[in-house]
Amino acid sequence: MIVYLNGSYLPHSEAKVSVDDRGFLFSDGVYEVAKIYEGRIFLFEPHLRRLRAGLTELRMSADAVDGIGSIAERLLDENNLRSGEATIYVQITRGAAPRAHAFPPSGTPQTVYVAVKPFKGHPASYFTDGVGAITVPDVRWSRCDIKSISLLPNVLANQQAKENGAFEALFIRDGYLIEGSHANLFGVLDGKLVTCPASGHILNGITRQLVLQRAPEAGIKVYEEPIPESRIGEVTEFFLTGTTTEIMPVTRLDGRPVGSGTPGPITKKLQQLFRTWVEEDLAANATAGHGAGV
Ligand code: PMP
Repeated sequence: MIVYLNGSYLPHSEAKVSVDDRGFLFSDGVYEVAKIYEGRIFLFEPHLRRLRAGLTELRMSADAVDGIGSIAERLLDENNLRSGEATIYVQITRGAAPRAHAFPPSGTPQTVYVAVKPFKGHPASYFTDGVGAITVPDVRWSRCDIKSISLLPNVLANQQAKENGAFEALFIRDGYLIEGSHANLFGVLDGKLVTCPASGHILNGITRQLVLQRAPEAGIKVYEEPIPESRIGEVTEFFLTGTTTEIMPVTRLDGRPVGSGTPGPITKKLQQLFRTWVEEDLAANATAGHGAGV
């Protein structure tokens, strides 16, 4: 694959960053992942907005984000990814400088990396039958709203899930279900669709925002309320949302079935709606560039 690194387009195997890169030394940077359907980037503008916001929070220039759209288009063409499903990964770090915690001198060039790759996809059964999840304590910081490359708690939690034969680990903070290690969480409690409110404790997922914005059009109201751990047994449906996770039912939690143990009606309805939202966005983008957005 051809990737973009600091102004150059080059084979992935030739893309190298300095050992002094602050991403390597301090996780001092942010990233984005967006999904590509039939060569078009789904909800690219909201992803770029979140990237700009994250850079600004880290007191880094967001100017590089303006160029990502055209870099992405060139990478899609050069890598023949105009059909099928793919992902785009963008990472921007504070650049390379001798190791010191405080910021490097102003003018230190950022490291900007963009790569696209074909998306292999999850097994179809994950969407039709659901996946398992486990609960883990949330040991992360209070700025999870920044899509930082500092993901160690998420890595450890996700590994624990894998070792327990589960797809996702759900973080519990102060007695409430917060989100997953790499996806947001929705649940049906007392017949109401709920999801944890946006705050520094979660990443406000683009897919989460899409569901919040568009589900009510189909008569599905969503409440931004967290689910108490003590009421997990009463939840009749759980599902994850994420760029590559899309809308994925969670049918086993900590080894116990969720509701009937099969994907529930609200989850299934939203999965159907999600497909139409993707189709609509593709159609809008085909005529008007990356137009549609959250
Ligand atoms: N929470 C976390 C911790 C994540 O890593 C992700 C995916 N990057 C999400 C939520 C879902 O966000 P999105 O819908 O923007 O992919």
